[in-house]
Amino acid sequence: SPTLLWFRSDLRIHDNTALITAARRGPIIAVFLRSLPQWQAHGHGANKLDFWHRGVAALGEALAGLNTPLLHRDITTFDEAPEVLLALARETGAAALHFNREYPLDEVRRDARVIEAFTAAGLTATGHHDAVAFAPGELLTGKGDYYGIFTPFAKAWHRQLTAERLTLRDTPAPQPRQAIAPDPLPASPELTDTPVDGRQWPAGEGPAADRLERFLRFRGRHYADQRDFPAIRGTSELSPYLALGMISHRQCLQAVLAENDGALAGGDAGLTAWVNELVWREFYQHVVVGFPRVCRHRAFQAHTEALPWRDDDAGFRAWCEGRTGYPIVDAAMRQLVATGWMHNRLRMVTAMFLTKHLLIDWRRGETFFLRHLVDGEFAANNGGWQWAASTGTDAAPYFRIFNPTTQSQRFDPDGRFLAEWLPELAALPAKARHAPGRDLLDRLDYPAPIVAHKAARTRALDAFKALPPDR
Ligand code: FAD
Repeated sequence: SPTLLWFRSDLRIHDNTALITAARRGPIIAVFLRSLPQWQAHGHGANKLDFWHRGVAALGEALAGLNTPLLHRDITTFDEAPEVLLALARETGAAALHFNREYPLDEVRRDARVIEAFTAAGLTATGHHDAVAFAPGELLTGKGDYYGIFTPFAKAWHRQLTAERLTLRDTPAPQPRQAIAPDPLPASPELTDTPVDGRQWPAGEGPAADRLERFLRFRGRHYADQRDFPAIRGTSELSPYLALGMISHRQCLQAVLAENDGALAGGDAGLTAWVNELVWREFYQHVVVGFPRVCRHRAFQAHTEALPWRDDDAGFRAWCEGRTGYPIVDAAMRQLVATGWMHNRLRMVTAMFLTKHLLIDWRRGETFFLRHLVDGEFAANNGGWQWAASTGTDAAPYFRIFNPTTQSQRFDPDGRFLAEWLPELAALPAKARHAPGRDLLDRLDYPAPIVAHKAARTRALDAFKALPPDR
């Protein structure tokens, strides 16, 4: 009997653990459950949903080359997954289901219910660890706890990594033609917001592999020096592809090994700095399993729940719309809204500005980011926000508050990024773009700062100092 292969955020036929495992058992029928209302309830916006849809289309084409039909079902919430998958098993005569695991809490619960339902029906359902080198729970502290701090996690990751963990999975050979035909691709999702032009983010394994190759060929060795400068394309821009599994961490790391004389640590400083970012990605995937409270909108550091977040709708709107009067913050927010992506340095700067300068709850920023990011991914987004808000793992010590103007001068020294996103400031001399003085503001269509850095900093420090001690 055929095996059902349930694709989720692993939209690729190469190096896919569940796919090759199922293919070795016999014929496969692939299935994708589009869960739009559920994903929207989780906060994903048009950019990611559109990219997801295009990624599934690309997957369907790749699977057609393997004579593997892809069936589509729409569900409202994850609760419907067991029933719909069981119905598919009955329709196709499949006795087994395979999938690659996802780690946030609702996904884990959904999968547990699917496994339960299949078992109760006398069928099997098997989840594989595929998205990370170590399954959550495999890397623990000496006391047997999940790591809550990155550096020791990364050390353990490097220490315990074996070559086998990164061995690429085989790509299945085309199977004999199946009696069952693929479903036509469903219509594009109807979305309230218009997604950004899809040409910015071509979906599928081919474009992902091209990006990886170009990044490693031209930029990988400069990564350590260039990754912090938003006017330079110094990073891989692979995050949307990693988030939906159009490329795997193993493919990325194998490509580094090939470029770096077989080493992931040591060797070229740029390449190893990039590996470190992939380890951050993995760290946050472990955190959501080890500390499921972060999936329930709770702070990682419980004592910070007492922070007196301000109810400042006008401030929040100014931040969302790129009208705070801090050019680096505004340019970054406009980049996010226009492209669905923001440079990492600026994610830190804007997140810190919202949570420290405006003292607005990180959860509001987390939601706004997810609504716009094409790479929106719960674990990394939540981890990044809680880091910036000093409520999370490794949290930035609360007294280290970025000065947005200094950040701007340091990381966009010639004001190129500012000029690109704030045309109203482009005519100013580069040095004046970071913090245009009041005399200039009257002539420019650009707002004065909505908070003064020093006073805002003091307000944030006071709020943190007044917290009950962490127990
Ligand atoms: P590169 O610098 O080329 O890094 C390679 C890959 O490593 C990335 O594609 C990504 O998969 C991973 N990575 C890099 N930095 C981090 C990090 N700090 N944490 C986790 N993984 C990382 N990343 C997301 O993928 N989705 C998100 O929703 C997301 N939200 C964020 C929110 C905030 C407030 C912050 C501070 C960071 C967030 N990040 C998120 C992490 C990071 O900013 C992006 O992964 C990175 O900017 C993507 O660009 P790139 O692919 O060129 O990264």
